[in-house]
Amino acid sequence: MRIAMVSSECEPYAKVGGLADVVDALARGLGQLGHEVDVFLPLYRGVRPPAGSHRRALAVARATDPSSADEDEGDVATVDLLTGPADGYRIRLVDHPFSYDRAGLYGETGADYPDNAARFTLLGRVALETISEEGSQIDILHGHDWEAGPALLMQRHLYASDSAVASAASVLTCHNLAYHGWVARGQAWQLELPETLGAPDGIDLLREAVAVADIVNTVSPTYAEESRTAAMGAGLDDLLRSRADRYLGIINGIDTTLWDPAADSIIPVPFSRDDLSGKQACRAELGARHGLQLGDGGWERGAPILGMIGRLDPQKGFDLLASAAPGLLEAGARIVVLGTGDPALVRGLQSLATTRPDRLVVLDRFDRDEARRIYAGADMFLMPSRFEPCGQGQMISMRYGTVPVVRATGGLVDTVRDADADPQAGTGFVFGPAEPEALVEAGRRAIAAYQDEGRWRELVQRDMALDFSWGGPAREYVAAYERAVASRRQAPLDAAQRQLA
Ligand code: ADP
Repeated sequence: MRIAMVSSECEPYAKVGGLADVVDALARGLGQLGHEVDVFLPLYRGVRPPAGSHRRALAVARATDPSSADEDEGDVATVDLLTGPADGYRIRLVDHPFSYDRAGLYGETGADYPDNAARFTLLGRVALETISEEGSQIDILHGHDWEAGPALLMQRHLYASDSAVASAASVLTCHNLAYHGWVARGQAWQLELPETLGAPDGIDLLREAVAVADIVNTVSPTYAEESRTAAMGAGLDDLLRSRADRYLGIINGIDTTLWDPAADSIIPVPFSRDDLSGKQACRAELGARHGLQLGDGGWERGAPILGMIGRLDPQKGFDLLASAAPGLLEAGARIVVLGTGDPALVRGLQSLATTRPDRLVVLDRFDRDEARRIYAGADMFLMPSRFEPCGQGQMISMRYGTVPVVRATGGLVDTVRDADADPQAGTGFVFGPAEPEALVEAGRRAIAAYQDEGRWRELVQRDMALDFSWGGPAREYVAAYERAVASRRQAPLDAAQRQLA
């Protein structure tokens, strides 16, 4: 199949969270299955196009602010499209400095850019215009999150009579239902979409995209079920339920070649399931570099290090960690946190760290290399998420022999099994309520298991043997694409029937 993806993130070019890992690895996984994939991505500041990329100019219509008095404001944007090889797929970078050459991907200092609707409309516009111009029939337009909403919607409106574009079936993957891409009516001119679309006060891009895509999916079966409920549907549960079997859950994988402790050139000493001595070295290095006291307190093997990496957002439960930290430290834990985001959460954790610098370290930055050293060097990995569509962190940590301590929600339920409840097949420690006490209790159970050296080694080795590769999930996407194609063939018939009725 020929697949055109539209995404606001993709490794190794632009990353804020798991979306970037997933788009890159899925595109590669599909390439390995023999499919042809293009990924359209903004050329943000600092993104380096791959060697061998070629550039061409493209003129696309641009919506202009009707309230603007600026006569010079053109209604055509000249954009450069850079196309390059990306290890199994093609990356297509949209170069429009006014829109993308900025300090952030989505915003700065905690505030979204006010023209995000226009920025991601331009991304979609360039994707569709390129497909139209190149005239090479694509089978699937695959959008990721609300940022691809404009592309999916323009396909069915602005490009409805352009057969190269309109004939493709569409798939929308919701990586996180919390972000809707709300555009107030007064700003809706940024979207090149019919004025009748949406509610009187504005347009919810994610909602509209969920309604229009031939197939919609989210990134784990459990989150697909949870999001059909009012409590967890982020206001979309009604619509998701109405999509019935056209809304499904496909678990993410991780890229097991990029995340491989035996071949990781960043970590101090590589290691494998059969030889864990390197993990001990990584652990010692992590502790020493951050001034953690691993040896005191009567720990025969050194105190356990609990790592936590992620966007500092209430979703991820960093506030639970802040309240649970004293209890975990009391139980003997050393804690390393790496994350950026909510300034109040950062301050809260940092002030806690100043009281126990030998036990708690808070690194307020985005640092891919340090993340690897934590995945490798920690003993346990914390993911006390309030909700979790899938999560990459718990799978990466297991691959590095770092036992996850997670809340029972979404993709965490589908990937981690409690080792006390199921001693034979358990892979981590799972707790239910989103309460600090529950996190402390799960942490204590993990620490108790860590004290039993034989049991712990078995758990570490079991986690490292798990297969989280993309092969299976990529095949599930292919099946979803096939269903989308079939339902698109059916769609004109449905419309004709509706007209007859
Ligand atoms: P989400 O997509 O909700 O942010 P995931 O667990 O699915 O959460 O993916 C997070 C990804 O981003 C992982 O690859 C993780 O290592 C990475 N990551 C998050 N925060 C940081 C950070 N501060 N520095 C480096 N990598 C980070």
